[in-house]
Amino acid sequence: MNDTYGGKNVVITGGGSGIGFATAKLLVDAGARVVITGRSQTTLDAAAERLGTNALAVRSDVSALPDLDALAARVRDELGTVQALFVNAGITSAMPFASTTEEVYDESFAINVKGAFFTVQKLAPLLSTGAGVVLTTSAVNVMGMEGTSVYAAGKAALRSMARSFSRELLPRGIRVNAVSPGPVDTGILENTMTKEAADQFKAERVAENPMRRFGTPEEVARAVAFLAFDATYTTGAEFVVDGGMTQL
Ligand code: NAD
Repeated sequence: MNDTYGGKNVVITGGGSGIGFATAKLLVDAGARVVITGRSQTTLDAAAERLGTNALAVRSDVSALPDLDALAARVRDELGTVQALFVNAGITSAMPFASTTEEVYDESFAINVKGAFFTVQKLAPLLSTGAGVVLTTSAVNVMGMEGTSVYAAGKAALRSMARSFSRELLPRGIRVNAVSPGPVDTGILENTMTKEAADQFKAERVAENPMRRFGTPEEVARAVAFLAFDATYTTGAEFVVDGGMTQL
């Protein structure tokens, strides 16, 4: 425990697992108060219990605008103002574009793109001067990786939004940046693929990665904390945490 982020209020969408949870843990352990959101009450309750009394779990689907309105109202009541917003909720949809259905396309964009857009819109009024917003993009938004056309396009849209939001929030002294993870073993793949497909996908990512390994959620969390709080002369940027995958 330390007090690096004492007095800071943080909202993390999709904070019940993976990268979002690791970020919540890093910040709570350093004194912040954190609201985590997600769709599964069971996952959220378990996460909140592990995080302790400085964490509050709010069930809220980012693709449902009434949920985001309710989240904003709850955050206003519980925290007042917000110093960091981590727009992290997301799903994968790994399949060739030829067999991608309208349903898969719509769900991916509803959560990953529309959900992120309206999360920022609805919570922006609560952000204080000097606050940091971090959007979660992905290494694949600058790649042509097989089976990722819908997901990658959505993440590329978020990369673009980081620039536009930055410009519009600049007058309020709010910075907006993106964190772009490479492969991080969080279980997100298994949510949309069979175990065999996920194992094969993972083996391919390890083989092609310059560091020959997956990243950890904690490695991404440290980058998020840096962008949210310490990168005070940085806005509209994308910070890559991918073992060199898109850089070397
Ligand atoms: P994860 O599945 O553990 O986390 C995603 C979280 O988002 C979950 O807690 C889930 O409940 C939540 N979520 C999903 N749909 C939601 C909705 N409609 N409303 C609210 N919450 C919702 O996986 P993760 O790997 O930690 O993913 C976090 C983010 O990182 C995602 O945006 C993902 O696209 C991105 N990302 C992950 C990787 C990776 O390799 N793991 C790589 C690049 C980018």
